[in-house]
Amino acid sequence: MRLVFLGPPGAGKGTQSTRIQEKYKIPQLSTGDMLRAAVKAGTPIGLKAKAIMDAGGLVPDEVVVGIISERIDETDAKNGFILDGFPRTVKQAEALADILLQKKINLDAVIELKVDHGALIERIEKRVADAKAKGEAIRADDNPESFKKRLEAYHEQTAPVSAFYASTGELKAVDGMAPVDAVTAEIERLLAS
Ligand code: AMP
Repeated sequence: MRLVFLGPPGAGKGTQSTRIQEKYKIPQLSTGDMLRAAVKAGTPIGLKAKAIMDAGGLVPDEVVVGIISERIDETDAKNGFILDGFPRTVKQAEALADILLQKKINLDAVIELKVDHGALIERIEKRVADAKAKGEAIRADDNPESFKKRLEAYHEQTAPVSAFYASTGELKAVDGMAPVDAVTAEIERLLAS
């Protein structure tokens, strides 16, 4: 099973892809997680990406395309994967199509979590409060200013990716405002059909 999860920051991509990963035993490949790990490790990519990420902008396409292309070659991704947070631009979606063609593999579905944008700020505030309560680190970009930038980047650069996958016939939309379990059930229903 090879999947892409699309949706704005705070839509529940991470939560839902973690659940689907457990059910199908395929890894969740989050470019955000990989970039945060690179920042933490102080790699050349991390050093380049940090300021962009903190400000809520998008890291250059070639950087994330390179990361994903290498990552899906790893053994644990041979039987499938969930892409979470990638592709985020039409250029990345086109590059992914080329990569998959070269590797002779196909996507099974692109799942878009549709959410009411007014609810997103509330969800991010809840994510910060939950992390604080658990004593976990707060993401440097989970602050109102960066979040506004991330939403702008989503509208300008990522929303067109949905149209791209609608045109290839791979897009499946899910109501991301439903309770978490109902969203998971709907995704599983779509994947089984
Ligand atoms: P996320 O964890 O998916 O919310 O990503 C956190 C941040 O990492 C984003 O705001 C971007 O700065 C960067 N990032 C993650 N994935 C991508 C991508 N596919 N293209 C460009 N930047 C990305």
